[in-house]
Amino acid sequence: MSIDVNGLTKRFGDFVALDDVSVSLPTGQLTALLGPSGGGKSTLLRIIAGLDKADSGTVSIEGTEATKLPPQKRNVGFVFQHYAVFKHMSVAKNVAFGLEIRKKPKPEIEQRVDELLRLVHLQQFSHRLPSQLSGGQRQRMALARALAVEPKVLLLDEPFGALDAKVRKELREWLRRLHDEVHVTTVFVTHDQEEAMEVADEIVVINEGRVEQVGTPDELYDRPANDFVMSFLGE
Ligand code: ADP
Ligand code: MG
Repeated sequence: MSIDVNGLTKRFGDFVALDDVSVSLPTGQLTALLGPSGGGKSTLLRIIAGLDKADSGTVSIEGTEATKLPPQKRNVGFVFQHYAVFKHMSVAKNVAFGLEIRKKPKPEIEQRVDELLRLVHLQQFSHRLPSQLSGGQRQRMALARALAVEPKVLLLDEPFGALDAKVRKELREWLRRLHDEVHVTTVFVTHDQEEAMEVADEIVVINEGRVEQVGTPDELYDRPANDFVMSFLGE
């Protein structure tokens, strides 16, 4: 099973942001979408999430065509670069949000939130407000929140981009560790080749709306498909 992107094309006016993109992302894998700014990574992620529509082509998630489903029916968790957190709600309430709008029973919510806060080592901060957390802790909260509804797919758009280098490195390790623990199919966008190499099982290199190469970090490093990949990885 997998996320299957088939012939996706997306235009903004005359500009072609995605040009007939096809790629298959296996279930349970941690995949990086890597490439320079403006290449179409976020557009692809948004279309997978259902936050944007393609002009043509399809996305299937685990064999079900997702293109026609609204975002809330796609079973997708999303983490953005800029913390999408509720400032007036405690950490626990932020994590519980997706479960509460789904009207889950209260004891179930409490247990799940407790588990998740443990997973990201924030259990002692459950009553704090997001403003009382560090940037790294806040993104860990965002990860816990995205995982709360047990999504089939976790999508992250430059999740660590806004943080300083040390915290970013720490969060890469967190993402890798969380993934190894919950095995959710994960796709994260980055323009940082080192980040992709360090964290991902497989990397999809995207440039000017096209897939340049798909491969493991070793494959990309040993056998770059073309000059673009070679020079981008060499930066
Ligand atoms: P990346 O995430 O790889 O940096 P994006 O997917 O955000 O790239 O953008 C790809 C291209 O599409 C960019 O040139 C961007 O300016 C353009 N683009 C993205 N969203 C819109 C939009 N809503 N309207 C017009 N152009 C857009
Ligand atoms: Mg982007």
